[in-house]
This record gives sequence, structure tokens and C-alpha cells, in this order.
Amino acid sequence: MVAEHFDVLIMGAGLSGIDAAYHLQKLCPGKSYVILEQRERIGGTWDLFRYPGIRSDSDMLTMGYSFRPWTHPKAISPGDDIRDYITATAHDEGIERNIRFRHQIKRAAWSSQEAKWTVEAVRTSPGGGEEAVTLTCNFLFSCAGYYRYSAGYLPEFPNASRFQGRMIHPQAWPENLDYTGKRVVIIGSGATAVTLLPAMARTAGHVTMLQRSPTYIISAPEQDKIANWLRRVMPAMWAYRLSRWKNVCFLTLFYRLSQRYPNFVKKRLLKRVQESVGADFDVATHFTPRYNPWAQRLCLVPDADMFEAIKSGRASVVTDHIETFTEKGILLKSGKELQADIIVTATGLVMQALGGADLSVDGQRVDPSKALAYKGVMMSGVPNLASVFGYINASWTLKADLICNYVCRLLNFMDRKGVRQVTPKSGNETAVAPFVENFSPGYIERALASWPKQGSKPPWRVYQDYFRDSILLKWSSIDDGVLEFSNPPEALAAPQPLELAQSAQ
Ligand SMILES: Cc1cc2nc3c(=O)[nH]c(=O)nc-3n(C[C@H](O)[C@H](O)[C@H](O)COP(=O)(O)OP(=O)(O)OC[C@H]3O[C@@H](n4cnc5c(N)ncnc54)[C@H](O)[C@@H]3O)c2cc1C
Repeated sequence: MVAEHFDVLIMGAGLSGIDAAYHLQKLCPGKSYVILEQRERIGGTWDLFRYPGIRSDSDMLTMGYSFRPWTHPKAISPGDDIRDYITATAHDEGIERNIRFRHQIKRAAWSSQEAKWTVEAVRTSPGGGEEAVTLTCNFLFSCAGYYRYSAGYLPEFPNASRFQGRMIHPQAWPENLDYTGKRVVIIGSGATAVTLLPAMARTAGHVTMLQRSPTYIISAPEQDKIANWLRRVMPAMWAYRLSRWKNVCFLTLFYRLSQRYPNFVKKRLLKRVQESVGADFDVATHFTPRYNPWAQRLCLVPDADMFEAIKSGRASVVTDHIETFTEKGILLKSGKELQADIIVTATGLVMQALGGADLSVDGQRVDPSKALAYKGVMMSGVPNLASVFGYINASWTLKADLICNYVCRLLNFMDRKGVRQVTPKSGNETAVAPFVENFSPGYIERALASWPKQGSKPPWRVYQDYFRDSILLKWSSIDDGVLEFSNPPEALAAPQPLELAQSAQ
């Protein structure tokens, strides 16, 4: 049986997958595409995570799509509103009908003879039955995010099984968990922990955030007053564009300042924390990280909600190490015991590239760790494949938009040239850096060895800089001498359409 064929197959119906579909419809209207999504709903991260308080930790004016204004008054937005925004985009743009839910891509095999991918997926029926599905496509676009969906990261805690209360990972939050009046200990100090603390403290008996070491925390207004004012005085799209640029410029400046003058930025950040949490609080112990700002992602808290929870006495922070779990809670190295009814292990994610799918090219298994990343979008030696990995120091969507636009430009260029295959060729370029540099949270460090590497110069560098990427992805010529364009032998033999043959000359 001949497998169903599409020009482009998108893996994942999260923020990036819907972005990719929008761009394809708009910029490559003649292309057929399908989205395979392993889950039952649109939204990816914003549908999966259901813990109390779940929200963005970057502003929605830069995390919204370039083509669809974010019109909610809250710039730091609850997760539900983000999910609704993604779903509404898919609905309004007619993308929904091209999504096949409950299809998990397991492997994809490229054939240079045929210039196409054969993609194998498993379709799960609502009753739990599984069925193998095979599709083919000319171009595979991975929008599968960057972490494993099946389970988050859980370190081995000594004697964890002794604990008699409930242990919960934020990636698998139980529906209807009642923590009213309960003693909660949250292990972790990242974005999830600082979100959970004020949200749970509203009704819990007491919430303790237990951290081995502190993270930089910065408070920002939940509502962007300038953006909200602009929306009142001009059309929504104009206001959105202006606010987006304002925030891109501010964030870029802040990041560059942090890289250049880390001590100055550190002092300013800590001063603001001290002001928020009160003069008596031990900021040196609990909120002063050992690293410089942006060596790990900064945690954004809206309207100082976390500090307010601490000041009110409903929540506290303990900086210590776990000696062992006990029946009643956690015994710390200092000898102190934290008693708990519920322990939340906000210990992070397990990173995963390409949705965990195995790739092969002409029968050879692709080992991403041996490849170089081309513009942070493609991999050396792997034809007709692109993937989205957003920024670590700014909103994910800024880069996703640029990548989607770039892929469409690339596909249109190939059509004009009458070529069906594009492969980044690394030549003499060698790996000199991991995919993400100067950024060391645990989940990134654990995974980087298995990810593609960066070379010494563009286009083999992966920037965390919207302005540089705009030039590299939006304004640079597609045909840069590094991408090799070709046709399979059978296509060469076949007569070319007149129009394509002319433009290829
Ligand atoms: C708790 C949390 C908070 C975050 N907050 C922010 C923030 O404030 N700002 C920001 O910029 N970024 C944030 N991020 C990063 C976040 O992941 C991005 O904002 C964005 O959601 C990424 O979108 P995506 O579509 O690329 O990936 P995802 O949202 O992960 O979606 C990927 C989709 O691909 C599907 N998929 C995966 N593998 C397969 C497969 N093999 N077959 C078929 N389908 C597959 C998944 O089911 C999912 O629907 C946050 C991440 C987390 C975990």
C-alpha cells in the first residue's frame, strides 16, 4: 500500500507547531502539510502542565506570535490563557483540521533515492489500542519542544519510600488535589518552584521551598501598563508590535548588560529583592546565587507575589541539603527536620531532542551529538529536516517565528531552483561548543552531550540574540554555499516543468 504523502510533516501541535503551520499556509500556500501530535489536545507545554499558578515567566508580548496580537491585560499570563491563545490561533487559521491527534512519531527514515522521509508513528485510540501508521513527506519539521513528555526529572532521594505523605511531580499534577491547610514542602528553586510557592500558600497551612542553592528572582508588574495604554489609543496590531519591540529591546539590553557588567547587575537585582522581602530577611543566604545573572534562566515573579507570601508568614525558604527522607518529611544536613503532608519535587525536566524519534539517513542512524547545528535550525549531514529550539534568555516564540519564516523561505527557494533535497555540509568545520553555551541549569547540563554541537563561526553558531538571528534567518541569502542542494537520480531523469527549469538556470 502506498503511504499517504505530504510536502511537509510537522511534529507537534504546541506553540511552535501551530506557528509552523501558520507560516506554511501563509508563505507556501501550495504546500500540503499535516501535523502529527502525540497528545489529545493542542498546546503542548501549556496543556500538559496543570500545577497551581502555572503561568508564563516571560512576557506574552514577546511570547505571543508575531502575527496575532496578545490582547489580554496580563503580560505575565496564566497557563490557561496561553493554551486558549494557541488553540484559538489554530482554530481561526483553519489549522485544526490538519492535526492528527494521538499520533506519536517513533522514527523517520530519509531516502536520498526518493528525496523523502518515511515517518512511522503509533496511533493510540481513545480506548488505549495502538496501531502503526506510516506517512511520507518531503520535509520534516520538528516542533516537538525540548523535553520528555512522559515524565519529568526526579533525582534519587535517600529513603524516599519512607515518606508517608504524598509526593508529587509538577509535570504530573493530580486533578483536584486538595492541599487546604496542609504542610507543603517544594523541593527546587527554579521557575516552577517560585510559581508554586505563592499559589499554594494562599490555602495551604504552610509552604516551604527547600533549595540547595538560590536562583536570581526578579519581580515585574503582571500588567504591562504601556502595552495596555497603547492598546487603548491605537489598533491592537500596532500596539502589539510597538510593545513587542519595546520588550525585545529592553530584554536584549538587560541580557547584554548582564554579560558585560555582571557584578553591577547582580547588586541591582539583590537590592530589589531585599526591598521586596524586607530589610530583616537573609537575602545573602536565600536569594544570592553562586553564579552570575543569566548563567541560568532568571525567574520572573509577577508583582512580587512570592516575596509577599514569605512576608505574610504563609511561606518560607530553606537553603540546605537533604540528608534523608523520613516518615514525616525531610531531614536536612543541618539536622533540622521539615515536616510535610505533601512534598512537591519541582526538580525539572528531562531534555529530549526531536520528540524522542529515531532518525536515519539512507539506512545510517543519525547521532545528533556528532552533528553540527546549522543556524540552530538544521543538522549537518541530515537532509530536509528543521527543528525549533527557542531562546533561553528571551521568549521562545521570538526564535520560533524566525525559524518558521526561514523554513518557508528555504522551501520556496528550493521550488524556484527545482531542487528537492537540501543538506547542510559542515566541510572542515569542527565542534567547538555545546548547542547552548554559558548556561548551566541542571536539565541542560544533563542533556547537552547528546545534542548537536556548535562550530566556530556562522552559520554553525547558535545565537541567543534576536537581532543577530533576524539577520541570519530572515535577511541572509538562503544559498550561502554551506547548504548543498540536489535532486535524487530519478528526478534528474524526469523532465522538469518548464517554469522550474527556467528559474533554475
Ligand atoms: C513549565 C514551563 C514554563 C515555561 N514558561 C515559558 C515562558 O514563560 N516563556 C517562554 O518563552 N518559554 C517558556 N517555556 C518553554 C516552553 O516550552 C515554550 O514556551 C513553548 O511552549 C515551546 O513550544 P513548542 O511547541 O516548541 O514545544 P511544546 O510546548 O513542548 O510542544 C511540543 C508538542 O510536540 C508534541 N510531541 C513531542 N514529541 C512528539 C512525538 N514524538 N510525536 C508527536 N508529537 C510529539 C508534544 O506532545 C507537544 O504537544 C516553559 C516551559 C515549561 C516546561
